[in-house]
Amino acid sequence: MKTIAYQYRFYPNKEQVILLAQTFGCVRFAYNSALAFSKEQYELGNKTNYNDWSKNLTLLKKNPDYAWLKDVSSVPLQQALKHLDKGFKSFFKSGFGYPKFKNKHARQSAHYMSNAFKWDAGTKSLTLAKMKQPLKIKWSRSFTGTPSSLSISRNKAGHYFVSILVKEEVESLPFTSKTIGVDVGVSNLAVCSDGKIFNNPRITKKYAKKLAKAQRQLAKKKKGSNNFKKKKRVIAKVHQKIANARKDFTHKMTKTLINENQVISVESLRVKNMVKNRKLAKHIHDANFGEILRQLEYKAAWYGRKVSAISQWFPSSKLCSCCGTMYEGKWSLAIRNWSCACGASHDRDQNAAINIHKEGLIDMLA
Ligand SMILES: [Zn+2]
Repeated sequence: MKTIAYQYRFYPNKEQVILLAQTFGCVRFAYNSALAFSKEQYELGNKTNYNDWSKNLTLLKKNPDYAWLKDVSSVPLQQALKHLDKGFKSFFKSGFGYPKFKNKHARQSAHYMSNAFKWDAGTKSLTLAKMKQPLKIKWSRSFTGTPSSLSISRNKAGHYFVSILVKEEVESLPFTSKTIGVDVGVSNLAVCSDGKIFNNPRITKKYAKKLAKAQRQLAKKKKGSNNFKKKKRVIAKVHQKIANARKDFTHKMTKTLINENQVISVESLRVKNMVKNRKLAKHIHDANFGEILRQLEYKAAWYGRKVSAISQWFPSSKLCSCCGTMYEGKWSLAIRNWSCACGASHDRDQNAAINIHKEGLIDMLA
């Protein structure tokens, strides 16, 4: 059984918009007050956790000044505290990502466990706690399992989404003897050892003009005015379009790679090192390396495929894929084509993909 997240857009009615706004507000309040409390206590030398915050919340609800907390389902509030707890745990483990206060202008979200919503598979209706009517969801794809939890979100552009976690059986794909190496590069999104190229659609470029125009207009508006807010929403919508297009493209690419190949060799990521290089940072952001690897890995696990992530230090670009000789001379990112003393001439990315392919298979056998 695999846990799969299905995301859908939905269109709340007036009543639901109000209740959701209240819910997001209460979630933010519960989270932020717990964070403030734990900071305060930490400075006094006390460590607090979920249990303390949860007790505080129960006390607050009894206080008539905070009675509005009872207007919304208690589940998302408890879940917000659980997320804070998780956030602190991961911060103490890694030293990164100290929990931040939730901002009312950012994306809003609320998490519901199965006791806080009703799901009717027959009529495909999903009703949240405290709501009279089911959500009007655009069912863009179907699922067969039973939802175990879900999260509701509203993005900066004012669109609503529900992400439903479902436990489902996924059937493995039939075995294929084809294997492939993929070079996730800068100039193209991905070049494969068999010659296939997944072109980076340069999504940002496509929307850059629109974005620049909206930003110029925003600069002329008075901060906080209605027109200012309007332009802000336009900008958020463009950002959303870019994100959607990128996500869609990446999903299609990883699905194709998984469908066609038994083993997919890729370089492991060195995002941390590369992001230090400013020039490359934007491209990396575009190419979305981490997301590609993440998708390949989970889809491989679902469909019975293998991902072989080779060492980030393997010199995939400057090794001749014909004779195994290393490129002599100074190597740079500007070199797109090169010839080896053995007579082979290489396209940088294609050569890298072939080397990654071989190395990935060797790694798997080792
Ligand atoms: Zn050679």
